[in-house]
Amino acid sequence: MNTIMKNGPKLKLAPYRKILERKAEEVRHSMSAQKAAQVVSRLDVPSDEGDLSQHHHEEWIFLNRNTIDMKLLREVADALHRIDQGTYGICPECEEPISAKRLDAVPWARYCVTCQEQIAARIADGEIVEFQEADR
Ligand SMILES: [Zn+2]
Repeated sequence: MNTIMKNGPKLKLAPYRKILERKAEEVRHSMSAQKAAQVVSRLDVPSDEGDLSQHHHEEWIFLNRNTIDMKLLREVADALHRIDQGTYGICPECEEPISAKRLDAVPWARYCVTCQEQIAARIADGEIVEFQEADR
């Protein structure tokens, strides 16, 4: 398109930004749709014990799904932030570029496959608790 976009060795960020922005939009939509569904179900006041536990069950599913969406949305937002910062596509663990193949599969990937596997192993060992990559 112009001289800046000329086949440099640098990763082309524009397509990833587009994918990430679309994904963020999609997750936000799904979250608001779930919220709307929950509001509707709240209007049905449970009449007996059975209905009540069913109601709680649905609420639990909602919360659980919402947590996953929240996590994904945060990861997508982080990835967009990294594009702005110019650190997108670079693994913060080994500082090596993340393969385009991996970014195509998981555009919000923070770590390269090797580091991701090491982190996953550390989580499995109970060494770290927090980080886990959301799947689409
Ligand atoms: Zn790495």
